[in-house]
Parts: sequence; structure tokens; C-alpha cells
Amino acid sequence: EMFGQLTTGLESAWNKLRGVDVLTKENISEPMRDIRRALLEADVSLPVVRRFVSSVSEKALGADTIRGVRPEQQLVKIVHDELVQLMGGEVSDLVFTKSGPTVILLAGLQGVGKTTVCAKLAFYLKKLGKSCMLVAADVYRPAAIDQLTILGKQVGVPVYSEGTEAKPPQITKNAMEEAKSKNIDAIVVDTAGRLQIDKAMMDELKEVKKAVNPTEVLLVVDAMTGQEAAALVTTFNIEIGITGAILTKLDGDSRGGAALSVKEVSGRPIKFVGRGERLEDLELFYPDRMAQRVLGMGDVLSFVEKAQEVMRQEEAVELQKKIMSAKFDFNDFLKQSQNVAKMGSMSRVIGMIPGMNKVTPAQIREAEKRLAFVESMINAMTAEEREKPELLAESRERRIRVAEESGKTEQEVSQLVAQLFQMRAQMQKLMGMVQGQEAIAGMG
Ligand code: GDP
Repeated sequence: EMFGQLTTGLESAWNKLRGVDVLTKENISEPMRDIRRALLEADVSLPVVRRFVSSVSEKALGADTIRGVRPEQQLVKIVHDELVQLMGGEVSDLVFTKSGPTVILLAGLQGVGKTTVCAKLAFYLKKLGKSCMLVAADVYRPAAIDQLTILGKQVGVPVYSEGTEAKPPQITKNAMEEAKSKNIDAIVVDTAGRLQIDKAMMDELKEVKKAVNPTEVLLVVDAMTGQEAAALVTTFNIEIGITGAILTKLDGDSRGGAALSVKEVSGRPIKFVGRGERLEDLELFYPDRMAQRVLGMGDVLSFVEKAQEVMRQEEAVELQKKIMSAKFDFNDFLKQSQNVAKMGSMSRVIGMIPGMNKVTPAQIREAEKRLAFVESMINAMTAEEREKPELLAESRERRIRVAEESGKTEQEVSQLVAQLFQMRAQMQKLMGMVQGQEAIAGMG
């Protein structure tokens, strides 16, 4: 199993947290060291490991506890989310041109599985319902052309070839014209590989690229090359400009580091992974599924996600209720102020969700100060006054009494009462808008 060692290494991190109540700087330091070691042993590159561990620590210390979720389970979820981000977050599918054939140019060193990928991609495209043609632009090895021809027959797609005499840029251009005239959706171009990166190979790729302006330039990399894989993607990207990578031989005994490092190091996504020699052994690369495989804890992850979802929903329902009730009193007011202050720390959990902004510490402090101020006055009110703010609005005596008991001025109490009525009015307006919209929807 590719991630076997990594999964085991991470397990020792979770185990060290068993029995703790909350994640602290002290109790995460050892587990963090385990995570670091496990990633390095899996061939993840050092700068990537450093950034990863520091980001996980920060999130772990900032995270609010979630009811029913144990700290080690929460850390599993944080590591999972960070792994997903590390691998690019979203799946990165093939891009197709709107008009003319989509040109998919494959590059890569010799023996990495490039020719096999050509056939697998043709198979994948066929499954998508797209017509496709393979192009033999590796003119240096006659065997490569034969291999592609055989594979093309196997998949049932045409193979375009001009033998070994023609030049790859011209072959590819001609192939594109042919595909256009035959209304073929996509062509997959097999180019020549070398044992190592050399200038002649790069120059040829640049020329082919210039001749046909491909939609996709995908670098095929062997996962077994470990750390080297991410470096290769970076070099090819700088030299010729690629749109993504295909990682092959993930079924072998690679330690998985390439899958984790490529995006972060090169800035280019892994689009597909190859897991075997058969045509159907090519899959889109899903960062979340890959992260789950690394952790091997699908049940814990879905449990934490559910708990987080319940917490979010409960809070949303509460807020909704308050907005909908026209009887917004000082008890609600207090709860609302407490929520706003709590939301500050909540936002750090929300900050784990990509796209959501964090609340700044200054804003949190501001909300907390405001809460203390409001709380002291509301605590000085009688239960009746809290439920019927009108009593305070109508009686100056009552306001003076609250001011004295809370150590605030009469004016501050008056402002608080006025603010409550303003909020009530706003909520009623909001309600009116909602009802208005419903009425408009009903008219349709
Ligand atoms: P090329 O030189 O890059 O065109 O490489 P080939 O496509 O000829 O593949 C080289 C060898 O790797 C062949 O024996 C393939 O069957 C094998 N191969 C390709 N992809 C995979 C894969 O995902 N898993 C495994 N196990 N073998 C693969």
C-alpha cells in the first residue's frame, strides 16, 4: 500500500493525544514531530513539510472544541483539510476548447508510462463520449510508433503517424488539421522522451507547442521518483509551461511523497493518476480522496464533519429564530451579544474553510469589550424589564436605577434601550422584506 508507512507514522501522532481534554502548545509538540517525521519519510519535500506542520499547529491551537469531538479526532480533521489544500483543494479536470479539436500534449522522460497514458486518456475520452485521435510524434523510436498503433487499435481510436522522417511540430500540425476536418473532439500527442532532461527534448517540445497551441500540456511523471517528481514538474513548467501533471505507477511501492508535493512545489496540479497497466487504470486526481487514503480514517473524518455541521446549523437556527420573532427582548439582546463575541473564536474554526475570512483579533477584543459593557447593564434589570423593554423606555426612574446598579450613566442606559428598539425595527423590516419576497414569489 502506497501510503501505508505514512498512515502508520501519523497514527502515532493521534495516539499521543489520547486522554487530553484540549489541544495545547505543549501537548501537540510531540504529535507534530511525528507528523513531520512521517511526511519526510514519505518523501515529501522539506520546505513543504515545514509549511505544512506550522499551518497545522496554528489551526490546531486556534480551533474551538466541538461538542462530542475528542482532540485527537479534531487534529485528524485539521490534518486532512490541510492535506487537501496541499494537493490543490479541488479536482482539476481536463479543459476542452469550444471550437476545433482540443490538443492534449504529453511530455515526459522515457519509461515513465507516457505511451500507456496516451491510450488510457483515449479510453477516458471515449467514456466521456468524445471522439479522439492519437498522434505519434515520437519519431526517434520506430517501436514507439508501433506501440501507439497497437494501443490505438485496442482502444478503438485512430492513430495519426507520418513515420520517422517527418518533424514532430509538422506532424502535430497536420494531425490537428486532419482532426478538424473529421470533426474529432480531441487529439492526444505522444512526444519523445529522454532518459534525462536535455536541451534537444525541451526545444522540440517548445516547437510543437508553438505549432499547435495546445489546450493541455501534461507532464507524465513516475511516482517512484519520489522527491524528484516535484522538481521535474517545476523544471518542465518553467521551461515549456505545462497545465498539469499525470502521476503514474501509484500502484507500485512509491511512498506517496510526489502526490503530496507536486502542486505545492510547482504550482501545477496533478490532473490524473495511473494505478496500473490496464486502460481503465487512469483516474482523475481527487485531493480529498487522496487525503482520506493517507489518513485511513474515513469514519473519524465524517464524524467530525457532522459534528461541525450540527454546531453550525444550531447557531444558524438560533439566529433565524431571533430575527423572526418580533419580540426581541433584552434576553435575546444579551444572547446575541454573547454570540457575536463567541463568533470571534468561532471564526477561527470557520477560517479552516477555504474562502471564509477570519475575524481579526482586534475585532474579537472589541466584541468582548462591548459584551462586558452591555452585560453589566442587562444584569441590573429585573426579569420583567428584560422581557418588556417598554417598561424601561417609559420610565426614567427605572433607567436611573439600572444605571446606578450597573455603575453606568443614565445616558448609557438610555442608549442601550434605544438600540434595542432600533434592532427590533430593523428585524421587522427584514421580516417584511422576507414576506414581501414570498408574496412576489407567490404571484408567479
Ligand atoms: P514511455 O516510455 O513513457 O512511453 O513508457 P511506457 O508507456 O512504454 O511504459 C513503460 C512501462 O511502464 C510499461 O511496461 C508500462 O506497462 C508500465 N506502466 C505504465 N503506467 C503504469 C502504471 O500506472 N502502473 C504500472 N504498474 N505500470 C505502468
